Amino acid sequence: MAAPSRAQDDIEQKVNDLLGKMTLEEKVGQLNMVSNGPLLRWDDLSSGRAGAVLNFNNAQDIARAQAAARQSRLKIPLLFGLDILHGFRTQFPLPLGEAAAFNPRLSRLASEWAAREASYIGVQWTFAPMADLSRDSRWGRIVEGFGEDPYLGSVLTAARVEGFRKGGLATATKHFAGYGAPQGGRDYDTTYIPRAEMYDTYLPPFRAAVEAGSESFMAAFNALNGVPSTANPWLQTEVLRRQWGFDGFITSDWAGIKELIGHGVAADGAEAARKAILAGVDMDMMGDLYIRHLPDEVRAGRVPESVVDEAARRVLRTKMRLGLFDRPDADPTHVDSVFPSPEARAAARDVARETLVLLQNRNDVLPIPATARSVAVVGPLADAPQDQFGPHGARGHAQDTVSILEGIRRRAAGAGLQVRYAPGCDLFCRSQDRLPEALEAARASDMVIAVFGEPVDLSGEAASRAHMVLNGHQAEILKALAATGKPVALVIVGGRPLELGKLTDLIPAILMAWYPGSEGGTAVADILFGDVSPSGKLPVSWPRTVGQLPLYYNRLPTGRPTLEHNRFTLKYVDEAITPLYPFGWGLSYTRFTYTDPAILKQRLRAGEVLEVAVTVTNAGARAGQEVVQLYTRDPIASRSRPLRELKAFEKIALAPGEAKRVILRVPVDSLGFHQDDGTYRVEEGAIQVFVGGNSLAEQVGEVSILETIIRPGSGQ
Ligand code: BGC
Repeated sequence: MAAPSRAQDDIEQKVNDLLGKMTLEEKVGQLNMVSNGPLLRWDDLSSGRAGAVLNFNNAQDIARAQAAARQSRLKIPLLFGLDILHGFRTQFPLPLGEAAAFNPRLSRLASEWAAREASYIGVQWTFAPMADLSRDSRWGRIVEGFGEDPYLGSVLTAARVEGFRKGGLATATKHFAGYGAPQGGRDYDTTYIPRAEMYDTYLPPFRAAVEAGSESFMAAFNALNGVPSTANPWLQTEVLRRQWGFDGFITSDWAGIKELIGHGVAADGAEAARKAILAGVDMDMMGDLYIRHLPDEVRAGRVPESVVDEAARRVLRTKMRLGLFDRPDADPTHVDSVFPSPEARAAARDVARETLVLLQNRNDVLPIPATARSVAVVGPLADAPQDQFGPHGARGHAQDTVSILEGIRRRAAGAGLQVRYAPGCDLFCRSQDRLPEALEAARASDMVIAVFGEPVDLSGEAASRAHMVLNGHQAEILKALAATGKPVALVIVGGRPLELGKLTDLIPAILMAWYPGSEGGTAVADILFGDVSPSGKLPVSWPRTVGQLPLYYNRLPTGRPTLEHNRFTLKYVDEAITPLYPFGWGLSYTRFTYTDPAILKQRLRAGEVLEVAVTVTNAGARAGQEVVQLYTRDPIASRSRPLRELKAFEKIALAPGEAKRVILRVPVDSLGFHQDDGTYRVEEGAIQVFVGGNSLAEQVGEVSILETIIRPGSGQ
C-alpha cells in the first residue's frame, strides 16, 4: 500500500480530534442507520443518535434532515444512502442487461448518470454495486448483478464503482459475501461455498471493488457455511480488512443484525449487537440494536471501547473523505429543471442498445425487412413502462419513458410502416379473451413483433422462481401467433433467462431485452429495424429447463467418460446437458470471422503477460460490434480446474469488410487458483488458450508457465 498522503494525514488528525470530543453514545450514534418513513424519530437526527439515513428521496426532506443533524452537539453531518442501481429519474437497463453489453465504458457511463441524477437531490451514497455472482437464475436478484462469471463481474463491478464516484456517489458494494448462491435459488437461504471457491469465484468482484476504491461494503443477510455474514469475522475482518486492506466501513443489510437472533446465533439484541461489531460490521441498518445495546456492552466490558472507536473512526473518515463536513446542501429549487436531461436519455439509449442479445434469428427474420408494409406488435409488455424499468425502478417516470410500442411506432412512421397493436393478454395473463384481436392483427400484418416475458413483480429481491416459464397464457398466445404462419420475432422483457421449451422451434427470432429502461423502446426499435446490429452477449448460461440449475460454463471436468453414447457420462437421462444458449452467446446481423491466431510468447514467467493476437473480420454487409473473448484452461494442476475461464475480452466495432488485429492480454499472475487456506498458486505447466465470440470458442494454442508462483494469505 502507498504511503499515506498529506491529505490523508490531515483527515486522520481531524477524525482523531473529533473522536476525542465524542461521548460513547455519540460514537455509537455514528454507527446507527435509520430509514425515512413512519418509524423515523426526528430527534434521533438532532441528538446525534443516527450517523446515516436511507430512503430520503427528495431534496427538501434531505435538506430538512441535514438541518436537524446540524442541531446536534457536534454538528456531524448525516450520510444519505439510497438504492441507486441502474439510474434514477432516467432509468438505465438493469445490471444483468448492462453486463450483456460487455462494455465497461458503458457501465461507467450508466453509473455516472445514475449518480449525477441522484446527487442533484442530495443523495451521497448508493447501496450498489451488487457484486454477487450467480449461477442460478431461479434467484430473483440475479437481475441486480452481472451474471455468472468472476472476471466479467470484476471488470464491471470496478467500472460501476468508478462511474458512481465520478457522478458524485459513494458506494456500498454488496452483499458481502456469497449471497448469490443460496440453496435452491431461494433468496436469503443458506449458502455453502468451500473457501477455495469463495476466493476463486465469489470474492474477486468484491476485491475489484476494494481496488476501485469503494468506500463501504454491505454484509449479506445469509449464512455462509453456517455462519451468518453479519457475524462472520472471517469475511468482514480477515478477508476484507486484513487480507485486502479495506479501510472504509461495513454496514449490515436491513435489520441484518437483529436477524442474527432469527439465524439462531444470538439469544437477544445485546448478543446480536456484540457479535456483529466484533465480527467487523460497523453500522447497523435499521436494527436499532447498536444504539440500544452497545454503550452497555462497552460499560460491562463485553465489547472493548476501542472496537467502537475504530468503527466510528471508519464512518467519520469516510464522511470526511467525501467532504460532507463542507458540502453545501442540494438546492431543492433547481432539481426539476435538470430532469430528465437529453444527455442522460442519449446515454440510456446507447447503453440499452448494447444490452440487447439476439439469441436466434432463423431465416434472417430480423431486422424487419424494408419490404414489410405492416407489423403487428403483440404482447402485454409492449406498453408497460414500469416493467421496462425493472426492480428498483420506482424513481423512473412513466411519462418520460419510450415504451417498446412507442419506439416501434416512432421508427415505423419514418419508414411508412403500419403498426397494429394488440396486447394479447393482461400482464398477469389471466384470460385469453384478448387473443382473437391479437391473431387478427397478426394475420393482417406482414410480420409479428411479440413482446412477452417476466413482469417486474416476478423479478428482484424476494422473487425467486421455481418455474421460470412465461407466466399465464403467454406461451399459448405465442404458439397461436406462430401458427398464423406469419414470421414472428419475440422480444423478451425480463430479469432472468426463461424456459422457452418448444417456442425456440416455433419462433424463428428471439431478442433478449432484459429490462431496458427509459429509452428501452428506442433502443429495441434501433435493433429491430436494423439501424444498429445487436452486439450483446449472454452474461449467464441460458438453461433449457430449471432442472439444469445451477448451470455455468466454467464448471469443472469430471473423470467420467466423455463419449455421449456412454451410459456413464455426465448427463441427464431426460434432458441435454448443455445450456440452450451458452455464456458469451449473442448473434449479430453481420458475421465475424476469426483468423490467424498467434500466441506472441509461448513461455512465460511471473510478472509477464500472455498476449494473444487474432484477426477479426466483419465478413457481412452491415456494420457491427463483436465481443472478442479469450478463455483459458489449466488442464493438469494440483486441483481440478474449470474447462474454460474467461480471462480477457474486448469489444470492437467493424465496418462491413473491415478487419482488425486484436491483441488480448492476460497477466500470467492471474492464471492461478486458490487453496482453501487462501494461498494462491499459478502452477508450472501448460495452459490452453481459446479465442472466439462465445464460450464455445476454439482452442488456438497452449502456453507454458515456467515456474510455480505461490502467494500466501491474501491470494491473487
Ligand atoms: C436489500 C439491500 C438493500 C436494502 C436497503 C435490503 O432488503 O437486501 O440490497 O440495499 O434492503 O434498501
